[in-house]
Amino acid sequence: MLKLYNTLSRSKEDFIPIIPGKVSMYSCGPTVYNYQHIGNFRTFFFEDILYRVLRYNGYKVKYVMNITDVGHLVSDQDEGEDKMEKSAKLLGRSVWELAEFYTGVFYRDRDLLNILPPDVYTKATDYIKEQIEMVKCLDDKGFTYKTSDGIYFDTSLLKDYGKLARLDIEGLQEGARIEFSAEKKNITDFALWKFSPENEKRQMEWESPWGKGFPGWHIECSAMSKAVLGNHFDIHCGGIDHVPIHHTNEIAQSEACNGEKFVNYWLHGEFLDMGNEKMSKSSGKFVTLQTLIDRGYSPMDYRYFLLTAHYKKKQKFSFDALDSAKNGYNNLKSRILAMKISSDGIRDATAQQREDLKKSFIEKINDDLNMPEAMSVIWETVKDSSLNSAEKLELIYDFDKVTGLGLEKLEKDSDNAEVPDEIIKLAESRAEAKAKKDFKTADEIRVKVREMGYEISDSKDGFDIKKL
Ligand code: AMP
Ligand code: ZN
Repeated sequence: MLKLYNTLSRSKEDFIPIIPGKVSMYSCGPTVYNYQHIGNFRTFFFEDILYRVLRYNGYKVKYVMNITDVGHLVSDQDEGEDKMEKSAKLLGRSVWELAEFYTGVFYRDRDLLNILPPDVYTKATDYIKEQIEMVKCLDDKGFTYKTSDGIYFDTSLLKDYGKLARLDIEGLQEGARIEFSAEKKNITDFALWKFSPENEKRQMEWESPWGKGFPGWHIECSAMSKAVLGNHFDIHCGGIDHVPIHHTNEIAQSEACNGEKFVNYWLHGEFLDMGNEKMSKSSGKFVTLQTLIDRGYSPMDYRYFLLTAHYKKKQKFSFDALDSAKNGYNNLKSRILAMKISSDGIRDATAQQREDLKKSFIEKINDDLNMPEAMSVIWETVKDSSLNSAEKLELIYDFDKVTGLGLEKLEKDSDNAEVPDEIIKLAESRAEAKAKKDFKTADEIRVKVREMGYEISDSKDGFDIKKL
């Protein structure tokens, strides 16, 4: 049984879809006013793992991700400029060109990280009509009011507003009294539709029953998920920062307009902590996938790094940590390549042994996507001395449908061929000798390998090989 941690209940729950065998899932995608940094990709990677785990469990998944190309203001609340318009002005390009360019880079990086595309991408500017309809629906039901700069949602009219984040509304209201805009009735109220400024021509603006303007950021996800998945669906995910504002407001809009429960399971990925590496987009200094490539890493080294942390825990990024992930991934690739050319015969494995490994892998991934432990099962399979290479590969290729490390397609190339197969085979026989406590043979092999120009050392995954 698949178990997922639901932010709504603050607990791990059995996953039961609305329609047996099918899953409807929505995640908040990129705002395409700039490059995505490697932190953003941690969230998209977590969503990719979720999508893969659902499919591995046999579900037919309809997965929707949006592309925000309008309406996301500099502050997640409703102040500041539109990120897209601001960036376009700075670069002297049109917002439309900008959106197309950064969406393209996002797709490229996604593919390089072997993140599967969703079944449907919804672009905010393609759904303006649906967003206006939803604002109209809220207007008709009396949830809105007008200020000098837009149409706002009155959050005090919903009894359970803030239930996802368990917001302390009174506390927020008290704390914010000083800078709290006079026109907003409650601190948590938010814009559904913003008017174009009177003396400024916006590049993106549309006619609406309330005047020319553009949609607020939150309404796009409520309107687009409704258009593609319906009023009520299974899973909604995103980064942890979306809990108190964006997702809270999506729930408010959807449940107020539709009059029914919006989403059953809310999943949130923790942040990548950049430590000393700055990652603020506004400062213009942040680490992208291209930064890693320029420094000699492969995008898949970064994917391997991401697999080493559970999505609900903060993960600290450093180049040292990335180096050890790269090392681990290289070791894994060397072992897989050696197995591919190995013709070792039948060993003493039983079908039970293979079943146990598979069962253990499924247990880990179905325990709220525990990928670090699922990776341990992959290493256990690599090191298992009762299975032959063909049997191990069959299992590992199957597991890699979830981990996405490209192990089946792996070919011997200049990048992977650092350690000759002969040396890997010797290192494997040494590991076997050690397992049988035949330390004399193990030492002899180590000396022989050293004479051939390589050093074997023990590691938590079995062994490391370095060229001398
Ligand atoms: P944005 O392009 O700003 O809309 O963000 C895209 C996604 O990245 C959202 O789901 C954010 O929650 C997520 N995100 C932003 N910063 C980080 C970070 N440092 N680590 C992980 N995810 C992040
Ligand atoms: Zn969203």
